[in-house]
Order: sequence, then C-alpha cells, then structure tokens
Amino acid sequence: MTQTSIIGFPRLGENRELKFATEKYFRNEINEEELFRIGKEIRRKHFTLVKKAGIDSIPSNDFSFYDQTLDAAFLFNILPKEVEKSDLSSLDKYFALARGYQGEKGDIKALPMKKWFNTNYHYLVPKFEKDTSIQISTSKIFDEFLEAKDLGIDSRPVLVGPFTLLQLSEFEDGLAARDFVADLVKGYQEVFHKLNEIGAEWIQLDEPALVKDVDEAEKKLFVDLYDSLLADKAGLKILIQTYFGDVRDVYQELTTLAVEGIGLDFVEGTKNIELVQTAFPEDKVLYAGVVNGKNIWRNDYSKSLALLESLGLENYVLSTSCSLLHVPFTVEKESFPEKIKRHFSFAKEKLQELVELKEILDGESSAALAENKDLFASERIAVNTALGEKINQLSEDAFTRKPDFSKREALQKDIFNLPLLPTTTIGSFPQTKDVKKTRALFKRKEISQDSYKEFIANRTNDWLAWQEEIGLDVLVHGEFERNDMVEYFGQNLEGYLFSKNGWVQSYGTRGVKPPIIWGDVSRAAPITVEWSAYAQSQTDKIVKGMLTGPVTILNWSFPREDLSLRESTLQIALAIQEEVLDLEANGIRVIQIDEAALREKLPLRRSDWNSEYLDWAIPAFRLVHSKVKPQTQIHTHMCYSEFTDIIPAIENMDADVISFEASRSNLEILDELQKQNFKIQVGPGVYDIHSPRIPSVEEITETIRAILAKVPKEKVWINPDCGLKTRGERETKASLENMTQAVKAIRKEL
Ligand code: GLN
Ligand code: ZN
Repeated sequence: MTQTSIIGFPRLGENRELKFATEKYFRNEINEEELFRIGKEIRRKHFTLVKKAGIDSIPSNDFSFYDQTLDAAFLFNILPKEVEKSDLSSLDKYFALARGYQGEKGDIKALPMKKWFNTNYHYLVPKFEKDTSIQISTSKIFDEFLEAKDLGIDSRPVLVGPFTLLQLSEFEDGLAARDFVADLVKGYQEVFHKLNEIGAEWIQLDEPALVKDVDEAEKKLFVDLYDSLLADKAGLKILIQTYFGDVRDVYQELTTLAVEGIGLDFVEGTKNIELVQTAFPEDKVLYAGVVNGKNIWRNDYSKSLALLESLGLENYVLSTSCSLLHVPFTVEKESFPEKIKRHFSFAKEKLQELVELKEILDGESSAALAENKDLFASERIAVNTALGEKINQLSEDAFTRKPDFSKREALQKDIFNLPLLPTTTIGSFPQTKDVKKTRALFKRKEISQDSYKEFIANRTNDWLAWQEEIGLDVLVHGEFERNDMVEYFGQNLEGYLFSKNGWVQSYGTRGVKPPIIWGDVSRAAPITVEWSAYAQSQTDKIVKGMLTGPVTILNWSFPREDLSLRESTLQIALAIQEEVLDLEANGIRVIQIDEAALREKLPLRRSDWNSEYLDWAIPAFRLVHSKVKPQTQIHTHMCYSEFTDIIPAIENMDADVISFEASRSNLEILDELQKQNFKIQVGPGVYDIHSPRIPSVEEITETIRAILAKVPKEKVWINPDCGLKTRGERETKASLENMTQAVKAIRKEL
C-alpha cells in the first residue's frame, strides 16, 4: 500500500484565527493562557483535518506562533543575552525577538527578518554569540507531539535541520558556524532522546539550504554535522526533508547518510528526477514531493503518475513539494463558479489529491483518475491567439529604447531643468483610516462614485499643495485610490482572478492574498491615467505617474502552470506598456515603474540566475518603456538594495532614474555602483520609512554628504527609501520637511 505525507500545514487557521488572537494578545486584550488555548484549538482542528483526509504520516511542530526558525532558536536557547536575562515571560521573549519590545522590562530590538528562500514568507534570523549556550529550553516540540498523540496520531515532529539553521543564522564577529557544531549536535541528539522517550518514531529535519549552491566547505560542514549527529539517533528514524529545488551538489553525500528517509521536491527540483533515476539507496524511503506546495492549481495526475513511474522505485511516500504553508487554506468557500473552482487546489484540497493519487496507485480508484484526466483535457480558457502572435513577433527592437541613455540624459536635463539633487518621493502618502474607510465604503457601494471621487480629489489636492509648499521638485499624486500595488492593477487586467479568503502567511501575523493569473492577461481599460492626469492638471510642477512593473505583478501573484513565466510576464508587460503610452499621451512626463519584487524570485542557484530569470525578467521591464519618447523620464524603484550581485542586470533595465532602499544598509551598495561605473541616476533613499521616527535635518544632511562622496552630484536624487503609505501624517510631513531643508542647505555648497 502506498503511503502519504505532507511536510507542513498552514498555521494561521481557516479564517486566520491565529492572526487575530495573536494581535489581540499584542494589544493586551487577551492573556497568555487564552492565546495558548486558541493555539491548541487550531492545532487540534488541523491535526484532525489532516487525519480525516486520510494522510498516513502527519507532521507535528509545524505550527508556530510566529516562525519556525525562531522556534528552533528558542528550542536551543540561541537568544541574545539581554533577552535571556530579561524579566519577560518566555512567550514575551519570543515575541520580543520577533517584533521588538519597548517597555518597563527593557528595550529589545527585533531580530532581522529575511525572505525564506524563494518564497514570500519571511523568517527571523537567529544570532549566535560568544556566550550562546545551546541547551534545550522549550518543550514546544514535545508538547505538540503529545497533543497529536492524544488525538490518536503518531505524528512526525518537524524541526529546522542543523545545517539549514547554521546557514540561515548570523554570527557575532569572529565566530562561525563551525564553532557551534559540537554543541548543536548535542542539542539535536537530546531532542532525539526526549522524543524517543515519549514515543516518537520519526523526526523530520528540514534542510532546504541543501538546494542552493553548496560549495566544498559547506559540503564538508554538512557531512561533518550529520556524521556526528547520526552517531546517536536514540533509535529515531530520521527524514531529511529538502524543498524549493534539487540537491545536485550533495546528492551523493545525502544518499549515503545513515538516515531512513529523504524528501525531495520534484516540482521545483526537476533535476532530482535524474538524480534518483541514476541511483537511490534501497535502505531508505523516498518522500516524493509531487503535489505542488506553492501553487494553487489542481495536480495533473497522469503527469504525477508518469513521474513516479519514471523513478523506478518501490519504496516511496507520496508527499508535497514543500510545506503547504505557502498556499491558502481551502477553496471550499470561495465563490468562483464551479467550472473555475474545480481547477484550484488549496491546502485542504491538496490532501485530497495525495489520497486520490495513492488510491489510484493502489488500484482502488479509477474514477478519480478519469475525472482528473477530463479536467485537464477540457479547454480551460479561451486562448488569446492574437496576443500570443504579438509576443512571438517581438523583435529585439521592441525591447530597446532609443536613443541610448546618455543622449536621453542630456536631453532630459535640458528640458526639465531641475536643480541639482532633485527631490521627490516614492509614490504613496499616508493611507490614514479615513482613506481606507472611504475606499471600503465605495467598494461596498455605500457611497456614490461622485462623492468617492471628490474625496480622493480633495486628498490629492491637499498633498499636492503641501508638496509645492515645501519645495519638492517632482511631485506625486499620493496613490489614495489604491489598496495594494498588485491588486489595484490586477482588477483592471483581463485574465486575473481574486479570492475572498486566499490568505498566505507572509510573516508572523501578516498575510498576503495573492491574485491568481487565470488566463491571458491584457489591459481592459486605462488604469492610472485618470488620477495621474487629474493631479498633473492641478499644478505647474511635474507630477510623476506611478505604475507597478510586470515582474513585480507576476511575482506577487499565483502564476499559471500552463504557460511559461516568461510569456505570462510579457503579457503583463504589454498591458503595462499600453498604460505607459497612455500616460505619456495624457501629459505625464515622468513615469515611475516600480519593481519592488524584482530581486525576490531570483533563482536559488547562481547558475540559473540568467537563464531561468533575468534573461526574460529584465527584457520584460524594457518592453514596458521601450516606446516612450526620449523626453519622457522613466524611473524605477526597488525596495531593497540587495542587488549588489546583479548590478549589470539592473543597469540593463535601462531606466533613467532608479530609487532604492539604502538607508538601512549603510549605503554599502553605493561603493559597488561606483566600482562598476553605474551610469543611471540614483535616489538611494536618505531615510528609513519603516520606522515612525523623524530623521533630523543634520542626520539627513550627513547621509546626503555620504552619498555625494560616492556618487557624482549630477546623478543624485533625494527621496525617502520607499512609499509612505504605512506612515502617519505628522511624521511624514516632518520628515520630508527636514529632507527638503537639508537639500536646500547642501545645494548652496555645491
Ligand atoms: N509606489 C509605491 C508606493 O509608494 C512603491 C511601494 C513599494 O515599493 N513597495 O507605495
Ligand atoms: Zn519600496
């Protein structure tokens, strides 16, 4: 009989119960006991649901009050001294590291947060210090195992594996991963012993770091770690679980370890298929990740069955490609028409798919296979053949803006006649309660279109007037009409669908609701022209038009599986190109195309960066603005400055100006830009908008001086490091006033 398993289940709850409970706890509306009770209830529901669905091997400790990496750090007491010593309760120490704490019991900075591999989930980065003393200090993993046991489930506790934990962590100066191997091994072994005592049979160690490029030193670290770890397994069976890609660099080492199970991703890690085909040890069980844990489409059973057969193995467990954390809970209550809905599979439905695949393999159900074949054989969408043709015929010219950058730069300097160090902002102004409320009222049709428009127009006018007053050079309309950078565009694009409750955890209590690319994408009607043109009509200064770029729109959506990412992105790019040209035709002379998420989907392996991503992502951006006049100035914005290693690609986007977040990374990126002789004009954010604090004139002045030391003054723009929608009005105005004052003073010296 075939067995089924999953790597992990979403944690926030079907209706995001955990989010709401935790936020109540943060606001002191419920106590710790109540929060624990709600957590336990959510776990009970999920354990029961997974079991009822018919999954054979069920994980535990995949639940978390915030993040599984932080849980692992807590389990092993990898905490900054000041936190360990503080008077806070254990739960409050945990939340203090997750989100910072300022109060009578201390002033604790949150740990840094980073993207979890190539997903939109974020983990907290543990820090190993000189006096970190590794010891078991929480009982969560044991408690949750026992909870499952009480429900009649012999679960498989999940824990971030030691290699991945070390790879993801930071180390105090002078220390390195190696220094903690021995202690960490002891810690994990102690966990094995305790789990064995309470009756566990298996443990799952998540090692996604193995799918990245693993160099010789890292490989040695991995092997040494596991050699000593596996010397004392306390009788537990060990599953090393990988996901998000293939394990080509360590396959040999991995398959010779003394473990009982190896989990491989066959969705993103197609190369894993070849590896297994060459050889897979007979004494180990393969956990075969065939159901996509990251996307929301139904599994194509015929394909999965063929894949499984091609592996030529007897001994495998059917599993998902990664934890189901990355998909929404269930499609059941969504109100899509049945003919659309039947194409979707969220977490709960994926359980069903695993069980159906198992039944088919065991010869118990041919109906499920027939039904699935039927689904994939029927025509899902009406293909836009004209659009396909258009994309096929795009020539090099279509991706090339003319004339080249230096000529455009000279021309634009001439006609815009901006002062040195032109000032601007990134687009949005505070989305205060009244703004959100008015938008919601309009959406629910509780106020008329006229009064909604009047509200937005007034708000836009107020901020335009204020921007003129403080002397900003390039103004923005403020984005008051937009809920979100992607949804706002998606709603006006043909081919997009929106779920009602399709939340996916982004970090802690935060969820995102990615729209679904259902069909061929095209622009149904102009999207931003009305408000941009309105704003421009209200002032003699330049108002910058504001768009989201194609790569970001794609990266923040659930993509199609029946069309390449490249082609989907080009469809979006053509739609945004129409918008750009419309803006230009309506008198908008500066247009910013945000690519906030460009860096996000860079493949995990460097060798794939170009061929799998940049080779089409960068051209897609170029396509968007290739047809504008030389006089029209194209800006782009990227949220992080973590692009030191892809500077040529960024330059290749061929924008005229790029703004990015540099204030938190000490402007390090500028050294690199200087070294590589970056020619595009830059606005390296002069203050951090993620914090409510108001930077002083002196502080900003200093930052600008630091920038001018590295970038020629003719190339520098002055702006905050991102949009201001999450900030309050008071701090926004005070900060920007300080910014413009600082610039005025510095200009006199230049
Ligand atoms: N124009 C957007 C804004 O200002 C950019 C946001 C972002 O980069 N995340 O809100
Ligand atoms: Zn940003």
